[in-house]
Amino acid sequence: MTPALIHTGGCQCGAVRFRMQGQPKDVSVCHCRMCQKAFGAYYAPLVAVGDAEVSWTRGQPKRFASSNFVKRGFCGDCGTPLTYEAPDGLSLAAGAFDDPSRLPPVIQFGVECKLPFVDAIPALPAHATLDDLVDAPFLPDVVSYQHPDRDTEQWPEAKP
Ligand SMILES: [Zn+2]
Ligand SMILES: [Zn+2]
Repeated sequence: MTPALIHTGGCQCGAVRFRMQGQPKDVSVCHCRMCQKAFGAYYAPLVAVGDAEVSWTRGQPKRFASSNFVKRGFCGDCGTPLTYEAPDGLSLAAGAFDDPSRLPPVIQFGVECKLPFVDAIPALPAHATLDDLVDAPFLPDVVSYQHPDRDTEQWPEAKP
């Protein structure tokens, strides 16, 4: 079991892993245009680290300066967005945590850029992954190359 105030995470390929210990300041979604672009998404889910302690336990993110004040960290191998680094502190991409359900958002930012359809998404038709076997018959045979949602001794794991 992971102790309550330790949260681990990392990128999709596993080249970059992090650990956050302590209570983060808050968890948000940001609708600003820069976050949309940096995450390739309608909005960015971010954990503002605050006084919690963050260590990079494997690798380091590459960084892109998206403005004169802000750097965006991402995995240089697989491209997963990982950080928002501003003068007022570090935030980690909430979806990159091993268990994002432990870090629910409590506030929205950048709402002047909120895409008009975002609030309608929960009302859209909803399908589970394996409901789509007609259009995507390969799904039952998928072998994931994604790093598992836990720390690993080495990655990729040694071949037997
Ligand atoms: Zn990666
Ligand atoms: Zn933003």
